[in-house]
Amino acid sequence: MTIATLFSYIKIQIDMTDIPKCPKCNSEYTYFDGMLYVCPDCGHEFSADDTAEEAADVARDSNGAELFDGDAVTVIKDLKVKGSSMVIKRGTKVKSIRLTENPEEVDCKIEGSSIVLKTCFLKK
Ligand SMILES: [Zn+2]
Repeated sequence: MTIATLFSYIKIQIDMTDIPKCPKCNSEYTYFDGMLYVCPDCGHEFSADDTAEEAADVARDSNGAELFDGDAVTVIKDLKVKGSSMVIKRGTKVKSIRLTENPEEVDCKIEGSSIVLKTCFLKK
């Protein structure tokens, strides 16, 4: 299989199976024009990213709220810091988190130390 046929195969797969409904008017007759999804009913054009808000690679706190760089969060559980005697107490406020490549972990600074926290122990 050449790369060209592979691409057309992928495109057909997208066309056949993966067309989201129009986010504006909920029409089912949207089609993929190679770059964007197009709704023939209301003329709305949208990308696959617009419909992927529930994607798995979004960092979320223990309540499912989306986390962003610079968010302030609260720790909801006493956490031992690996490799040290430090314990981050439940209720500790973290001023400014930084997202990492792993959606389950965020970087932050607590008492001057860089620490990686699991998002499941955080709350906005
Ligand atoms: Zn529409």
